[in-house]
Amino acid sequence: MMQLGVIGLGTMGANLARNAARNGAQVVLFNRTKDKTRAFMKQFGTEGDFVPAETLRQFLSALGAPRVILLMVKAGEAVDAVIEESLPSLRKGDILIDAGNSHYRDTERREAHLLRQGVHFIGMGVSGGEEGALRGPSMMPGGDPAAVKKLLPLLRKMSAADGAGGACVTHVGPGGAGHFVKMIHNGIEYAVMQLIAESYDLLKSLGGLTNKDLAKTFAAWSRSDDLGSYLTEITARIFTVKDPGTRKDLIDLIDDAAGQKGTGRWTTEAAMELGMAIPSINAAVDARLFSGEKEYRTKAGKNMPTSLLPLRRIAPGIVRSALELSVICAYAEGFELMAKMAAKKQWNLDLAEIARIWRGGCIIRSRFLVTLQKALTGSSAAKKAILMRLSGVRQRQWRQAIAAGIARGVPMPALSASLWFYDSLRRDRLPQNLIQAQRDFFGAHTYRRTDRAGDFHTVWNR
Ligand code: NAP
Repeated sequence: MMQLGVIGLGTMGANLARNAARNGAQVVLFNRTKDKTRAFMKQFGTEGDFVPAETLRQFLSALGAPRVILLMVKAGEAVDAVIEESLPSLRKGDILIDAGNSHYRDTERREAHLLRQGVHFIGMGVSGGEEGALRGPSMMPGGDPAAVKKLLPLLRKMSAADGAGGACVTHVGPGGAGHFVKMIHNGIEYAVMQLIAESYDLLKSLGGLTNKDLAKTFAAWSRSDDLGSYLTEITARIFTVKDPGTRKDLIDLIDDAAGQKGTGRWTTEAAMELGMAIPSINAAVDARLFSGEKEYRTKAGKNMPTSLLPLRRIAPGIVRSALELSVICAYAEGFELMAKMAAKKQWNLDLAEIARIWRGGCIIRSRFLVTLQKALTGSSAAKKAILMRLSGVRQRQWRQAIAAGIARGVPMPALSASLWFYDSLRRDRLPQNLIQAQRDFFGAHTYRRTDRAGDFHTVWNR
């Protein structure tokens, strides 16, 4: 039987601990605040083989060598604090897994730091929220392959099924690869959530749909092959929930300023550093930031003139195509960013395998990932199926939905960013030849030509 130590019994840690115990591990527990460990034992102590520890020293001595410790504390300084406190007692061969949302660079720093003492540090992305952590999340461990191999038998049991006989876990790659891939997962998550929110706005503002209609529409979409996903499913459910106090639809009582914990911004920063455009994801991060600037937008918005174009109601089918095709763009951006980073870091990421482990358990699990996995494995039928979706009527409806939003002044940062991403890919010539000419004009920055190799400069203002 495997023994697993869990430090941090917050929402995620407690559920992962219960998940590991249900899957046959003896789980040694430690939390900075003792009361939480006691409360855990009172509530779940009989569910499995748990060994509660009141001090870190007790915790470490309850674990047999080599120790396997899963850290599920607040990302950032808390992780370093726990590492520093445990390090003097850790021994060669021990494995420390950081399962929180740490920045991949911090993971690489910590890995190098712990390796000096022969301790393996595994940065593991975990997605699935509270429910996933308990019943089966998607897990993305990165780090030393031999150390990850030792963990895989338990992680396979703990993780979600991928719907094709496998488990939603794999050794993602070395160093910070696991946390990087989790960060991209969250970047895509930001984009898909924003795309759904903009679709909701279009359906409500221009389609005249009530919350009841929206629940039905999203429920139907969530059962379809093209839009079936956990996020469309929960969206449908959200529109049916009443506020117990007022009996009004809860969604209408919720403030419109969304929060962000950092992984979306980190994705944007990583893309900027790599010199790569991820318009849909960036737009989603911007939209959350903008929503949070409530005082500014309400004050400045008061005096903004409105002058709109006439438009009849738009049909839900039009919005559906816009959402479907934009979601494809968000995935494309995220996967391309992983490919670029993998090339830079020589991580050798298996993108098809990453699509596979996202098929179950995680927040962006969707039927589209099944097709995407096949396409990334090299299936020409799957690649063709994706291109088919992007063609004909659906593409026209995508343009129609965005044109409608623009005509009526409905902000659609992510939907329109996805379309400009697509149109920029489609065009064989972009207008940046003019930018090159302007740069050379005012700053002698030189430009390259389409007909000859080399760098050229022109005296433009002769
Ligand atoms: P949480 O419920 O707020 O729990 C935080 C845990 O961190 C508590 O056990 C807390 O201990 C501990 N902690 C905080 N500062 C500490 C310190 N300086 N030293 C030692 N322990 C410290 O958080 P959570 O939602 O479980 O999230 C944990 C991690 O998982 C985060 O990195 C988060 O980003 C990531 N994550 C969360 C989700 C999700 O859906 N919630 C999904 C995937 C990943 P005390 O009880 O003593 O305060």
